Amino acid sequence: MSKVQDRATVCPHCKKPFDGELLAEGSRHEGFKCPHCRLFVPAERANGADGATS
Ligand SMILES: [Zn+2]
Repeated sequence: MSKVQDRATVCPHCKKPFDGELLAEGSRHEGFKCPHCRLFVPAERANGADGATS
């Protein structure tokens, strides 16, 4: 429940790291809102797992 997400999330839209609060946790709309570009970042993208990097 109280998992602290210490890692910075990197926005896939603007590529900037931010410290986001997880929204709608547990739902399929789970994710973050980027404070830089204000776009929604799905939690699965935010983990930076599968990557078309660069
Ligand atoms: Zn962004």
